Amino acid sequence: MTSDDERFPTASFEEKFKMFAVMTDSQREAAAENVIHFCKDYCGKCPTNQGTGETARAFCSLGKSEVIQEQKGCLCGQCPISKTMSLRWDYYCTQGKALELSEAERR
Ligand code: SF4
Ligand code: SF4
Repeated sequence: MTSDDERFPTASFEEKFKMFAVMTDSQREAAAENVIHFCKDYCGKCPTNQGTGETARAFCSLGKSEVIQEQKGCLCGQCPISKTMSLRWDYYCTQGKALELSEAERR
């Protein structure tokens, strides 16, 4: 039988999301800190975010920005979190979190 660890690198976002669902609270907190750590170099520096005053991060996990309105270029595709979590969308700050975008595709 194949373990989740072995399947993880090639799993889809939806499969990975299910694997993360069994995490403990402390594992979940560590994962959230990891997302924010990487996010600051991508969301924090992208053209869409520049000049908006937005300080929130991790829109792929936490959902839309309350500040950002206009799409001027997205760096999510270059962020390691996209690869780690097999994220296949962009502009999470204006479109919503990955889980919502995944669910929208199934409607
Ligand atoms: S989601 Fe994309 S467009 Fe929005 S702030 Fe992050 S990198 Fe920029
Ligand atoms: S994928 Fe985008 S929103 Fe998510 S952590 Fe990376 S830069 Fe931030």
